[in-house]
Amino acid sequence: MSDFSADAVAKQLDYCTFCPKMCRHACPVSTASGRETHIPQVKMDRLNQLRLGRGSWTAESTDPLWACTGCRHCTAYCDHGNEPGLVLLSGRAAAVERGVPHPALVGYSERFRAREKRLSAQLQSSFGDRLATEGELGYWPGCDAIDKGSADIAAALAVFDRTGLEHVKIVEAPQACAGYPLLAAGHRDLFRWHAGRVAAAMRGFKKVAMNCSACLFAVREQYAAEGVQVSAEVVAVADVLAPAAANLACQMQRKSVYYHDPCYHARYNDVIESPRKALSQLVEVRELGWSKGDTECCGGGGLLPKTMPLVADQMSKRRLAEVHAAGGGMVVTSCATCAFMLKRNAPASVEVVDLATAMAMLSQTPFTPPPGGDVDADD
Ligand code: SF4
Ligand code: SF4
Repeated sequence: MSDFSADAVAKQLDYCTFCPKMCRHACPVSTASGRETHIPQVKMDRLNQLRLGRGSWTAESTDPLWACTGCRHCTAYCDHGNEPGLVLLSGRAAAVERGVPHPALVGYSERFRAREKRLSAQLQSSFGDRLATEGELGYWPGCDAIDKGSADIAAALAVFDRTGLEHVKIVEAPQACAGYPLLAAGHRDLFRWHAGRVAAAMRGFKKVAMNCSACLFAVREQYAAEGVQVSAEVVAVADVLAPAAANLACQMQRKSVYYHDPCYHARYNDVIESPRKALSQLVEVRELGWSKGDTECCGGGGLLPKTMPLVADQMSKRRLAEVHAAGGGMVVTSCATCAFMLKRNAPASVEVVDLATAMAMLSQTPFTPPPGGDVDADD
């Protein structure tokens, strides 16, 4: 996508440049930051001017390219079906090629590799007895779950076991992440190389259930775009839990929970009904004002927590304000990144819980978090 001569990309950039800002209301980044330079039209126009050689590529001129989580909400309101979230990724790759990464992402490829090493060792030490290189159904917890939500991994395994899915194995691999952050950081070549290695690790499985909404999108769509084929069927963890939830007959533990749709699940992966189906076996599911295909991003995508941490946190706070205003409650979500972002920004009245953990809690399925807890190093 960093090839701006590609007709489709150039056309999108031209359309946005001359658009009367029809999707400006839909961008959660500009809404949270309050900055005009962060609305989709201005970000796309900035990239177009750089593409056309009407400005130099500097940290300042490229800054708006990083003010996007890729949430695709603008696309939902675009008559042309333009994809700023994806086109801006090509701009980031072009900036990195020109030696202008975001200042917060300098040396990111080395940092990513070191994090992979740390997290795959952590997964091995916490869940080594459950790892395998082949099987019917593999489970890919993803980097943020290993880093910040190891109890959620334990809960998922306990729910699998309780619902007759004892055969589910965690995919054993030297990688912890399927690579979406590399795309978001503009490292497309490294992403392609990494994708090939993840696809090889999944080769022994017929189906793989993934926990991270952005990496599910990356594996399903961006791997193929880079010429990397995945032989396993790749689904969301919610897709596996939904049919299994019927085996969790139990007394209701609470009346209702809210469900937050991760934007990558709702607008790229079509994972909308399965988490609701899984939860509704155990509890009434309440809808947030913006939900399903119109969900609002929690701020976790696009590496925004690294490039614009205050804005990313503000997006999570905005997302939960409605629940707080209604008296509080439990908010369940089905992506480790969303769970982490929402948890760290939740007011005292709101409890944020990962889907598998919510199902374990609501069905009184016991699970034991691994000793040592989560590290959440700033890498
Ligand atoms: S994405 Fe569509 S609605 Fe938004 S600025 Fe571009 S052309 Fe306009
Ligand atoms: S993809 Fe989301 S964050 Fe990016 S410009 Fe569109 S609405 Fe804004």
